[in-house]
Formats: sequence, structure tokens, C-alpha cells
Amino acid sequence: RAKADGRGRWRFFEPEMDARMQLRRALETDLRRALSRGEFELFYQPIVTLASRQVAGFEVLLRWRHPERGLVPPDAFIPLAEEIGLIGPIGEWVLRQACREAARWPAPLRVAVNLSPAQFAGRVLVDAVTAVLRETGLDAARLEVEITEAVMLQDTRTTLVTLHRLKALGVRIAMDDFGTGYSSLGYLQRFPFDKVKIDRSFTRELERSRKSNAIIRAVVGLCAGLDMGVTAEGVETAAQLETLSRCGCDEAQGFLFGQPRPAAELPEMLRQLEQARRAASAAA
Ligand code: C2E
Ligand code: MG
Ligand code: MG
Ligand code: MG
Repeated sequence: RAKADGRGRWRFFEPEMDARMQLRRALETDLRRALSRGEFELFYQPIVTLASRQVAGFEVLLRWRHPERGLVPPDAFIPLAEEIGLIGPIGEWVLRQACREAARWPAPLRVAVNLSPAQFAGRVLVDAVTAVLRETGLDAARLEVEITEAVMLQDTRTTLVTLHRLKALGVRIAMDDFGTGYSSLGYLQRFPFDKVKIDRSFTRELERSRKSNAIIRAVVGLCAGLDMGVTAEGVETAAQLETLSRCGCDEAQGFLFGQPRPAAELPEMLRQLEQARRAASAAA
């Protein structure tokens, strides 16, 4: 009786909260079954080297094909997966699938995999990466892991040890979404990044704001001194691309080159990008 009462009152005062809780509970139940039901899919988005306009590799972006809700983007379920302790197994599945796929690509195409802060606890990650590389035969130098600033906010020593172990395997490390979180220049000094990915909010502002241009130039200069490459995220227009090239960015990624697409479409995507590259160099 107290339960019925309580629920009634809750619903009366907080209808939105109640709806959100129900959605969350439903998603949680479904998420727990998603891996074993094979509902996850990987999409791939090209990353292009600016100097040569050649494809350097692909970033792997996770999708959940929910039987009723359709294709669910990662922002809608990864935080929940982290919260309920599922990101470990899901992340390992992503890593294995991605490396298996990349092992079939022509070298030196790389694959970039996003990692959650939660995957940095303990030795599990390094062991998983070691096992997956051995299993798939992918050259470690062709695997890049992307981490966000949130990773560095947690236990710094553990994180550092893990990153150095990954580097010792030959894996490359990228700092993702740079400039959005609690960016600290100290992180760039202390963590062994191979490259920095400038968040797409800076790319988006390029045409409207001189400040964004100045920030990108500064990051490029800083990274050059630290032997780190710079990738610009969220490139959507030719004008942005041109500015980013002039700023000295090494690589670019965004809808201008291609949306994230399923693995089956990679050969066609590579063909089209190669055609665009030839056309651009013929025009130059
Ligand atoms: P991210 O790693 O920064 O990935 C880039 C996001 O920007 C992707 O969103 C991509 O679709 C989107 N994007 C790329 N180019 C453009 C563009 O030109 N314009 C715009 N507006 N957007 C662009 P997505 O796929 O929804 O992924 C969102 C975030 O979810 C990722 O951000 C990453 O942090 C996380 N994520 C994705 N897959 C995984 C995964 O397997 N594991 C973990 N832990 N996180 C993942
Ligand atoms: Mg990323
Ligand atoms: Mg990013
Ligand atoms: Mg992001």
C-alpha cells in the first residue's frame, strides 16, 4: 500500500522524472542483453592527412541497433553502460571487432578506438589490447586509442602506468575532444600523446570567429614543440579545410570527407576519397 501511495504521489509531482526513470530502466534491461544478442555495430569515419589528402585511417564509432528504437547513438547509452559496469565487456568487443576489421585493410591504414575512463582501472585494458593484437595479427602501430580529458581526472598514476604500457606495446595514443573538458597544459606534458584531436566546437567557429583560428594555430604550435600531431574534428566545409591546412593541422576528420559508415561501405568510401584526392591534385 505504501508503494502504491508512493508511486502515485511521485507520478503526480514529478511526471517527467518518472518517465525518464522508466526509460532508463527499460534501456538498462535492454543494454544488459545487447551484447549477447549481437545488437552492437561499428561505424567507421575516415581521417585524412592534409598534406597528401590521403586517408590515414578510420575512427570506430559504436552504434546500438535496438530492436524497437532503431539505431541508438553512443551518447545515448555509453554513460549508462559506464554506470552499470558494462563498458568493460562492450569496450573489449569494440576493440576486438575493430582490430579484426583493420587487419584486413591495406597497411598503413590505422584504426582509432575510443576508450572510456572506466576501462582504465587495473590491468584489464592492457591485457585485452595485448590479446587482441596477437589474435588479429594487427600491427600495434596501426592501432590508435582515443581518450578524453575525463580519463586524466581520475587516478592519474594508474592512468599514466596504463598509457605507458600501451605505448610500450607500440599503440598510439590520441587526446580526444581537446579544449572542451578540464584542459590542462600539464596533461600534454605528462601524458605520452602522439596526437591531439581539436574538438569540433573550434572547427565550427572557424568561419565566424578569429579567436577560434588563433586557438587552433596556438595548439598546432604547442603540439609541434611537443612532437604531437594535430587532427581537426568536425570538418564540414571546404573553407574550414583550407583554413585548417593554413593553420598547420596534420589531419582532418568530418562530414566533408565522410560520415561514419558500416564496414561494408569502406571500399567504396576509399575509392571516392581517392578520386577526390586525384581531382584536387590535378586542380592544384
Ligand atoms: P568522438 O570520439 O569525439 O567522435 C566524433 C563524433 O563526432 C562522432 O559522433 C561523429 O559521428 C561526430 N562527427 C564526426 N564528424 C562530424 C562533423 O563533421 N560534424 C558533426 N556535427 N559531427 C561529426 P558519435 O558517433 O555520435 O559519437 C559520439 C561520442 O561517443 C564519440 O565522440 C565518443 O566519445 C563516444 N564513442 C563512440 N564510440 C565509442 C566507443 O566505442 N567507446 C567509447 N567509450 N566511446 C565511444
Ligand atoms: Mg573519438
Ligand atoms: Mg572527438
Ligand atoms: Mg566527442
